[in-house]
Amino acid sequence: MRIARYTPASGGPATYGVIEDDAVVALDGSPFDGLRQTEERTPLSEVTLLAPVEPSKVLCFGRNYAEHAKELGNEVPEIPVVFSKFSTAVVGPDAEVPYPELTSNLHFEGELAIVIGRRCTRVQADEVADVVFGYTVANDLTMRDMQRAEKQWTRAKGFDGSCPLGPWVETEIDPGALSLRTTVNGEVRQDGTTADMLLDVAACLAWVSQTMTLLPGDVVLTGTPAGVGALQRGDEVAVTIEGIGTLTTRIAAD
Ligand code: ZN
Repeated sequence: MRIARYTPASGGPATYGVIEDDAVVALDGSPFDGLRQTEERTPLSEVTLLAPVEPSKVLCFGRNYAEHAKELGNEVPEIPVVFSKFSTAVVGPDAEVPYPELTSNLHFEGELAIVIGRRCTRVQADEVADVVFGYTVANDLTMRDMQRAEKQWTRAKGFDGSCPLGPWVETEIDPGALSLRTTVNGEVRQDGTTADMLLDVAACLAWVSQTMTLLPGDVVLTGTPAGVGALQRGDEVAVTIEGIGTLTTRIAAD
């Protein structure tokens, strides 16, 4: 099942809904309290899709693919690298993100995103299916020059618009070996598989939830495969994960 969040194209309040073919069927309330479908069905052409969830926090794994660590001259970490983004970083599918003033090296990073469905702490491997709501697509936009210059990555990876998410949450998929492909202006730049993650979904959740409680709608980014690179003003970047969908983001032209 694919769960989206949307407004009418003409504007209005945000609603959660279930994608059915080329339409969205509105849900009554939050999908985290149970999926109650209504009779309200709207063609996708008449809605604006928003980021599919409103996370209280986005926790992100760095260097979780060996080939990506290598391409930036880094070792595979002995202790997992975790950083965070905030609600102000999150934007939806088809968003236009301004090219930040403080960088001359803005990078894309296509990533599988885990969406939490239940409040949980110290998640065990056999609890993953219970606490995960589903999976969506993320782009971990990064000011690479600032990331290298500063000890903490909070500013370089947490700026406004740095966390495109969407287009929806797929609730019925095994994340173990999904192809992940990123294109820039139609040209393939990343062509990886989630099977190459160093820490898999269960290990990522176990690690981050050791010290903090995850809430419904929270998001965990699982790292990016090799092939990251710079974006220019006016570029269109699209991240596609097999079985989930394509997240497209435009970098503003000026
Ligand atoms: Zn990343």
